[in-house]
Amino acid sequence: MGERKACFNEKCSAYKKRTKHKDEAYVFCPICATELIVVCKSLKCYEQLPNPLEKYCDECLQKQQEQRDKMVKAVKTVPNAAVTIAAATPTIIKATKDIIKFLPK
Ligand SMILES: [Zn+2]
Ligand SMILES: [Zn+2]
Repeated sequence: MGERKACFNEKCSAYKKRTKHKDEAYVFCPICATELIVVCKSLKCYEQLPNPLEKYCDECLQKQQEQRDKMVKAVKTVPNAAVTIAAATPTIIKATKDIIKFLPK
């Protein structure tokens, strides 16, 4: 399930570097042996998840939803706006380009 377990021992270098560990590989921190806590799957997010079955924290889920809404709206109304948004967020450039292909010129 990817890297989504984190050490919350303030003295541990894994905590200081915000290092995450693979879910299936670790129960305890390989550096300080503190029990690992499930955190948000987002790359730079270190938010603890109250429910370990969730993948992302509320904040990241909201951001993803907002980004999707923005993209859908932009593609539907002004195709050029979608290009602007894509330029600002490199991760969705490809997805946006694929959508633009289907738009009438
Ligand atoms: Zn640690
Ligand atoms: Zn998050």
